Amino acid sequence: MKLKVITNSEEETKNLGKKIAETIGNNKKTIVLIGDLGAGKTKFTEGFLSYHNLEKEISSPTFTIVNEYENSKVKIYHFDVYRLSDVDEFYAIGGEEYFEKGICIIEWGELIKEALPKHYMEIKIEREDNSDDKRIFYIEEK
Ligand code: ADP
Ligand code: MG
Repeated sequence: MKLKVITNSEEETKNLGKKIAETIGNNKKTIVLIGDLGAGKTKFTEGFLSYHNLEKEISSPTFTIVNEYENSKVKIYHFDVYRLSDVDEFYAIGGEEYFEKGICIIEWGELIKEALPKHYMEIKIEREDNSDDKRIFYIEEK
C-alpha cells in the first residue's frame, strides 16, 4: 500500500516525521528518503528525531556519511549517501552493519539500492513547483 501525504510547510513535514517516528517506536527499521536537493529529507529527519528528543543535536550529514544519535532507548543513524561514488564505498564504511543496530534513515538511499535490507520503508518526496512550499510524500513499505 502506498500512502500519499501532502505538506505545505517545513513545520508540517517535521510533524509528519514525528508521526512516522511514533508508529515505528524503538523498533529497528530502515527508512529510505528519496527526493531532490531541498525536497525536505533533512527536515523530515529533524521531526523524526524530535519524537525521541534527539533533534537538538542534528547536523546535516552532508560532510560525514552518517551521524549517530542515541538515548537510553533507541539508536538512530542518519545517512546522506549522496557523495558516495558507488555502493562499494557504502560497504567499505561498514554501512550494512548499521541496519542491525537500530533505526537507519538514509537520504538518497536509492543510490545504494543493492545494499539495502530486504524490507524497508520508502519515502519519496516530490515538488510540483520549485517556487512553493508544497511537498508530496509517497510512503510505501518495501
Ligand atoms: P533535503 O535534505 O531534501 O535536501 P532540507 O530538508 O534540507 O532538504 O531542506 C528543505 C528546504 O525546503 C528547507 O529550506 C525548508 O524550509 C524548505 N521547505 C519549504 N516547504 C517545505 C515543506 N513542505 N517541507 C519541507 N521543507 C520545506
Ligand atoms: Mg538533506
